[in-house]
Amino acid sequence: MTDQHLHPDTVAVHSGRADLADLGVHALPIDLSTTNPLPDIERGGDSYEAMATGGRPPADGSMVYARLWNPTVARFEDALAEMEHAEAAVAFSSGMAVMTAVILAHTSAMGKPHVVAVRPLYGGTDHLLGSGLLGTDTTYCHPSEVRSMMREDTGLVVVETPANPTLELVAIADIVAAAGEVPVVVDNTFATPLLQNPLDHGAAMSLHSATKYLGGHGDVIAGAVACSEQTAEALRRVRAVTGGLLHPLGAYLLHRGLTTLPVRMRQQQLNAQQIVQWLIDRPEIDEVSFPGLDGDPQGILERQMRGTGAMIAMRMSGGYAAASAVVSSVKLFTHAVSLGGVDSLIQHPAALTHRPVPADARPDADVLRLSIGLENVGDLIADLEQALPVSASAAASRSRPGAG
Ligand SMILES: *Cc1c(COP(=O)(O)O)cnc(C)c1O
Repeated sequence: MTDQHLHPDTVAVHSGRADLADLGVHALPIDLSTTNPLPDIERGGDSYEAMATGGRPPADGSMVYARLWNPTVARFEDALAEMEHAEAAVAFSSGMAVMTAVILAHTSAMGKPHVVAVRPLYGGTDHLLGSGLLGTDTTYCHPSEVRSMMREDTGLVVVETPANPTLELVAIADIVAAAGEVPVVVDNTFATPLLQNPLDHGAAMSLHSATKYLGGHGDVIAGAVACSEQTAEALRRVRAVTGGLLHPLGAYLLHRGLTTLPVRMRQQQLNAQQIVQWLIDRPEIDEVSFPGLDGDPQGILERQMRGTGAMIAMRMSGGYAAASAVVSSVKLFTHAVSLGGVDSLIQHPAALTHRPVPADARPDADVLRLSIGLENVGDLIADLEQALPVSASAAASRSRPGAG
């Protein structure tokens, strides 16, 4: 089942299931034990020691305690690792919990507090790095500036591509070259392992808010990172010590979600591409941001992705008033944060997902972000069509002098 030559669609369905036949089961088992029997004190203690320092449970030992190891979570991790062409993956209670562990393992744990972060980033990541809460000193920059921002005490480079919410693409291999020996973590949430594998381009880690496309149904909050076994050990140590665990029920749902990721992503992407084509001709929209829409001048889409994904950003001609009117007028789209689920969402990044970002780096007030789901694309376009004219007229009346 771990044959690297299998098609990604097949890997998505079969990965992390190698032990099921021996267990005599077909569906993924869920192990909810918080504690585990110890064979004897010696082997119990050795097992504890192995896992508290980031290792796996010894074959003749015990899993000891669920903060150290859970087989349902481990099975999901193995599946994700295979999809990401990685040796290992480590799952956490949320995307921010995994980002926290990645930062801690590479900065304070290594005595290297400096982080180079390429903007734009998800608002929560930007906030976490800028807050100094984890003792980091962060330099934000553009992709072309990474090399000149590197210092002796730089422990980590953080980049997101496609970026949230602008859908800008960053060439991963260029960032890796600029970072030199310093590990690069790529937030791969928007692309998913189906469309992009950052490790194949030299990144040390591919990070996911699994809450989004991996889960895909808006009912699990989780995070995961794919990496080398050595990095996984450092991250499992942080997880064992700080306790940002993924619950096994969440891991079960994510693992099940992986099996339909290829078909969901392909259909959502197709819907998004048709919506983009419709949006670019609308007078209510000033600008549409979508991977490849500008013709991929740097060839990044061609080189590092296998598709566009299903996220869209659009700039309203009528400014903030128009954006506000659209989110209030949609009927099929839900006005809500998050993304990557089977149903379509729309939200205002500057007010919500990117609210904690400093004003000079925050998305513009006229920008809306759309996450396209699995509904019929004609119905989605009809919903946007009925919402847009309302917004155009609302904006016109609001911007008319003296109209208040
Ligand atoms: C949502 C999101 C996160 C944070 O993940 P949570 O699961 O909400 O903690 C990080 N990066 C990106 C790109 C996201 O969209």
